[in-house]
Amino acid sequence: MNLETVFENTDFVHTSGTKEELQVAVYLKKQCENIGTQVKMENFRVPMCTIKKAHLFADGVEIPCKAFKGCGSGTVEGELYYMPGTDPVSITGAADKVVLLDTSNISFFTYQDLMKAGAKAILFRYGDAHYPNTDIDQRELREDVVGKERKVLCAMINVNEAVKLVKNETKRVCLEVEQNEYEGESHNVIAELPGKRKEWIVLSAHYDSTSLSHGAYDNMSGCVGLLGIMEKMRDKERNFGLRFLFCGSEECGLLGSKAYVQDHKKELEQMVLNINLDMIGSYMGQFIASVSAEEKLEHYIAYMAAEVGFPIAARSGVYSSDSTPFADKGIPAVSFARIAHTSIAPIHSRYDLKDVLSMKQLQKDINFLSNFTERLAKAAVCPVARQIPDNIKTELDEYLFRKRKK
Ligand SMILES: [Zn+2]
Repeated sequence: MNLETVFENTDFVHTSGTKEELQVAVYLKKQCENIGTQVKMENFRVPMCTIKKAHLFADGVEIPCKAFKGCGSGTVEGELYYMPGTDPVSITGAADKVVLLDTSNISFFTYQDLMKAGAKAILFRYGDAHYPNTDIDQRELREDVVGKERKVLCAMINVNEAVKLVKNETKRVCLEVEQNEYEGESHNVIAELPGKRKEWIVLSAHYDSTSLSHGAYDNMSGCVGLLGIMEKMRDKERNFGLRFLFCGSEECGLLGSKAYVQDHKKELEQMVLNINLDMIGSYMGQFIASVSAEEKLEHYIAYMAAEVGFPIAARSGVYSSDSTPFADKGIPAVSFARIAHTSIAPIHSRYDLKDVLSMKQLQKDINFLSNFTERLAKAAVCPVARQIPDNIKTELDEYLFRKRKK
């Protein structure tokens, strides 16, 4: 397989629920078939929106904005309140105000706090003040952030405009939004290399991108990783079966992997391990293994790294990617990534292009990951205990908004 070709053929924005996302799914399915695996596609529902109108006025002057998908329609006018943190003092100030946050997203608990405090609308900032463009990312107000609370209008502005609002001590803002909300469809692509046992190692990587990104590093690199492992493992003897899961809609809340564990409830017992890839093959950056399983797996990976001479920082924790729904269902999971600094390979932006990736490094990463997969696929029994340690369970509760982070 020519690694570079995959990036060339998916070199466009492909966000959740769009025809471009489906185009990439179909393309990946074809690649799996070319390798000689049985492939199927499974669809799942995703929230979709068409923004018809979004206007933001600061003391009467319009500034560019993008309304959040799913935040509803209407007009809100009020006093602007720049909220520097999420501490109780900051939150109190939000009463009856249009709140400007110093972030580009919001967690469940902050949203709940803001609603209880009586916030009227929320503004977010995107970008880098030193970029030569004034891009604004298209985000969404997620159902799992709103919970049982009311929805308020939300909009993203460029970071330079956000700074100006604070600098100029802007008094009043007005936000007008009109949008159509509807249900759409996203897809998981699933390819299989069966083993002798009726048990599976599930390898996953998401293939969707964010609104401005071509998603080469985040995460066609992980998808190419899966294809590379598939190609290497095709003719190898396997005790455990390998299931390759290319997830859609990861970028709007791990929707693909959540749908997968939901729709395959009955087979979860047969899944012994999840190996997830999210961003590999960058020129710079440390290779990490984030283990959501017993600590022994972390040590196993560190020992193997030492043995084969491949630098890895293995640690335990919850990685913000498709490994999380697996770990949450009690399936030991590990995410691998080569983490390049955001000043070198910024993700979720127009700069996430093939240029930040090294095909040579990507091949080396794939070689290590294939080696790791082969050892486990050939194992007499799966050495990883089917048990999620308490500290990981706590992290999962926090990540999935069931518990407030201490
Ligand atoms: Zn990603």
